[in-house]
Amino acid sequence: MPRKVNPDTCIGCGACVDQGIIMPRKVNPDTCIGCGACVDQCAFGAITLEDVSVIDPSLCQDCGACEPVCPVGAISEE
Ligand code: SF4
Ligand code: SF4
Repeated sequence: MPRKVNPDTCIGCGACVDQGIIMPRKVNPDTCIGCGACVDQCAFGAITLEDVSVIDPSLCQDCGACEPVCPVGAISEE
């Protein structure tokens, strides 16, 4: 069963990332079309949109919310 992070209680300490519990998502720049749908889905402010979207691995909490909204399947676990 996948674990989920509650954005209301996470304090961003990074301990879960250090332990390998959290696997940050990444965007494939070759397939991203820059639609911005993923940016709106991220409750942690981890995604910024430039020409294509970029996920900051230090902010991503592996909640998975961004992945299903991508119309081209450009988001995956690192
Ligand atoms: S999985 Fe996606 S929506 Fe969730 S925190 Fe990471 S970048 Fe944001
Ligand atoms: S939803 Fe997918 S195509 Fe749209 S900006 Fe995000 S990664 Fe790129």
